[in-house]
Amino acid sequence: MPKHSQKHLDPRQPLVVDTTKLPRQPGATRALQRVVPAPADLGLELISVPEGSDLELDLSLTSASEGVYVSGNVRGSLSGECGRCLDEISQSFDVHIGELFAYEESTTEETTDEDEVGRMQGDLLDLELAVRDAVVLMLPTNPVCRPDCPGLCPECGAHLADLPADHSHEDVDPRWAALRTLSTESPKAASPQKRHFKE
Ligand SMILES: [Zn+2]
Ligand SMILES: [Zn+2]
Repeated sequence: MPKHSQKHLDPRQPLVVDTTKLPRQPGATRALQRVVPAPADLGLELISVPEGSDLELDLSLTSASEGVYVSGNVRGSLSGECGRCLDEISQSFDVHIGELFAYEESTTEETTDEDEVGRMQGDLLDLELAVRDAVVLMLPTNPVCRPDCPGLCPECGAHLADLPADHSHEDVDPRWAALRTLSTESPKAASPQKRHFKE
């Protein structure tokens, strides 16, 4: 009896692989090529793989003495938002994965933690965690539309890339400058008054 309480794998799930046809003979290998719909929440807040978009698996499964080693590439598309100019980012990705899935009852299964080495359930293995880890590790935490994106003008919010190099708000009428100060300060000034009014 397996001592861990892993969820029961469903071979119909797109990222669950059935290795029945892979001989359990160290060195035996089989290619695994399929296109599956991307699972939900694959990515980070600002950039991720759209749910249901094509995820192309180009992998090989190799029998090892303690389990099945899965290696190869996963390709797909990313969509997100530039952290500087807020433009939409859409690009493709290609990441490598390499992960051992231990056979049930193998020494590897007995001597490792579930988060170190994947687990097989009979002939089934689930690629979802390996794919998630590889994709999330590759993603930039501060995605940009291009490395030299100059961002937005802090004054007017226009795309600096579209503006002339001498774009500036320096020579603003001093009365406007005074108004701007007023409008940023007034909410702070208003709140203690409100509280006083309620009492
Ligand atoms: Zn940008
Ligand atoms: Zn501006």
